[in-house]
Amino acid sequence: MNEAERNARHAARMARKKAVIDAAIAAAAAERGLLLVITGNGKGKSTSAFGTVARALGHGMKVGVVQFIKSRTDTGEEAFLGKQPGVEWHVTGDGFTWDTQSREQDIATAQRGWAIAARMLADPSFNLVVLDELTYLLSYGYLDSDTVLDALAHRPSMQHVIVTGRAASEALIELADTVSVIADEKHAFRAGVKAQPGIDL
Ligand code: ATP
Ligand code: MG
Repeated sequence: MNEAERNARHAARMARKKAVIDAAIAAAAAERGLLLVITGNGKGKSTSAFGTVARALGHGMKVGVVQFIKSRTDTGEEAFLGKQPGVEWHVTGDGFTWDTQSREQDIATAQRGWAIAARMLADPSFNLVVLDELTYLLSYGYLDSDTVLDALAHRPSMQHVIVTGRAASEALIELADTVSVIADEKHAFRAGVKAQPGIDL
């Protein structure tokens, strides 16, 4: 095959591909608030959610963020995104459960965070709500799964929600519109590198 034939074949293949993609785009006409779940053991769940926060803010949307679990308030995402106009940011964690070592305290903290999240999930002025590390509170049983799923299912119809955290439950995955499972292929921490500002926090 000469160069001209190769180019012609490529053009024909691309035309077929374009027709298929255009038809799929035309068929995807629905518009509604989406529930995204970013789960799995790999790094990139929260940062994916915060990338989407930046994307939403770029469209002038109002965003609510609740960080469960995390106790540190010195993260880059909070320092930067938390003070953008249109963002309401809450850090409600006391750290991981092996830090607090108190189940009672963890449950009280979880409930406090959930009260904020529930308020946002009932408020249509929030275009995007991020519930960072929510999955752990469900898997530890600190929050009632049905209560959480019900609030997610009955949120304002145009509101987008992102839930992050490992081991998302079957029920949460079932309810979600878009689910990404990030695999843990490699992580620098296992090679002895400590958490690096700008990358890990
Ligand atoms: P990130 O906030 O960087 O997107 P994440 O939300 O996917 O990470 P978390 O389980 O919430 O993951 O952990 C947050 C912190 O733990 C980050 O500092 C991250 O680099 C680190 N981390 C994430 N996954 C792993 C892993 N598989 N092994 C070791 N450390 C990890
Ligand atoms: Mg995270």
